[in-house]
Amino acid sequence: MFDTVLIANRGEIALRIQRACHGLGLKTVMVYSQADAQASYLQYADEALCIGPAAPGQSYLNQQAIIYAAQASGAQAIHPGYGFLSENADFSERVEAAGMTFIGPTAACIRQMGDKVAAKRAMRKAGVPCVPGPEGALPDDPLLIQRIGDEIGYPVIVKAAGGGGGRGMRKVERSEDLLPAVSVTREEARRAFGNPELYIEKFLGHPRHVEIQVLCDNHGRGVWLGSRDCSQQRRHQKVLEEAPAPGIDAALLAAVGERCVRACQQIGYRGVGTFEFLFEDDEFYFIEMNTRLQVEHPVTELTTGIDIVQQQLRMAMGEPLTYEQRDIRTQGHALECRINAEDPQTFIPTPGRVTRWEVPGGMGVRVDSHVTAGYQVPPYYDSMIAKVITHGATREEALARMRTALSQLRIEGISSNVALHRDILQDPDFCAGSVDIHHLERWLKGRRQAE
Ligand code: ADP
Repeated sequence: MFDTVLIANRGEIALRIQRACHGLGLKTVMVYSQADAQASYLQYADEALCIGPAAPGQSYLNQQAIIYAAQASGAQAIHPGYGFLSENADFSERVEAAGMTFIGPTAACIRQMGDKVAAKRAMRKAGVPCVPGPEGALPDDPLLIQRIGDEIGYPVIVKAAGGGGGRGMRKVERSEDLLPAVSVTREEARRAFGNPELYIEKFLGHPRHVEIQVLCDNHGRGVWLGSRDCSQQRRHQKVLEEAPAPGIDAALLAAVGERCVRACQQIGYRGVGTFEFLFEDDEFYFIEMNTRLQVEHPVTELTTGIDIVQQQLRMAMGEPLTYEQRDIRTQGHALECRINAEDPQTFIPTPGRVTRWEVPGGMGVRVDSHVTAGYQVPPYYDSMIAKVITHGATREEALARMRTALSQLRIEGISSNVALHRDILQDPDFCAGSVDIHHLERWLKGRRQAE
């Protein structure tokens, strides 16, 4: 049990977690870097402690400083949010070794899911459908590698077991290109992730990104909370998400959702988690599990009515889940636009002072943001400054509410990608639903050529 939570993060998610804590009567300790000393959410915290200079390595990634801040403030639990230390097994171990609760799964689970070869093996064992390809890591023998490639059939994708953030992957079109691709990717993986292990799978040509949110308590009970579609991506970064994923057969989805929960029970997973899939021609293919809270969790909150962060805190306190799967019903449709401080044409970040900040409201509109007028967007961190989320009885209603909401979002002083979102919401293909993960880049290219 704990009554004080240290929030080891910044920006909108720090505020989101703070609200969830206060809603449960928990005290909060916020840690911040010198660049975030003016952040408005610090004043709502029970205590705020500066942990270092702007550079993340010296503040939000400084494990020792964070643990020291928790000890000094009497916090008994640490919430890592997303990014930063949220999927760092060593950090979770250090937190537990210091006698505090890490709000997330065990270090062993984080490690297992962080190794994509081990993750895929565990998922296969639990009956979760995976992308076709051999079970283990690639061998060194060139002849064997070549044979594996031929068996899968081209195109294939070579991926680093330790990869993440869209890095450490290479698509291979033809058999003769496989060995050079393997050696380049292996070298990259060794340098970038300190782990040269690779695996190989079938390359899917036109998949959607569909994911399933799960909640698991410490008592072996778990539920899945419907689907999300995050296919609108640029350079593997999600731009706009929605729940549920449009047009997927309910029985097919339920079968996969149940497998996800079963997989969690098999690996002893606890807390919140997300199973990411590629979805193509009515088939799900597991690609990875995120062992943390995700940016896009609000679309699931609006469609299920469940406060995912409060559930996460409750489960970390050892409370049993009060939901059975049959209690989970999704209602209507939700969309989320990630608002970034970046140029809408070039995508280059645009840090600076926000001189005007007016956010929309009204029925079915939610804005998660730490920004206020006069806020200085620092250049050191991710450029996301807000999430605009809308909910409606139908996808059309959620879209209409999003169009109105974005027309009332006023940001001055810095450039943002609001104009891009307004254009996306007029794209007939997106509005029809079910675009693939390459759609946004294709659409952006078409738009550039039309200019
Ligand atoms: P990361 O952890 O780096 O995000 P993922 O395994 O989640 O890596 O893959 C990231 C993206 O790479 C996917 O969203 C998809 O766009 C592409 N990708 C991954 N595996 C495949 C595959 N087998 N076929 C086609 N595209 C893939």
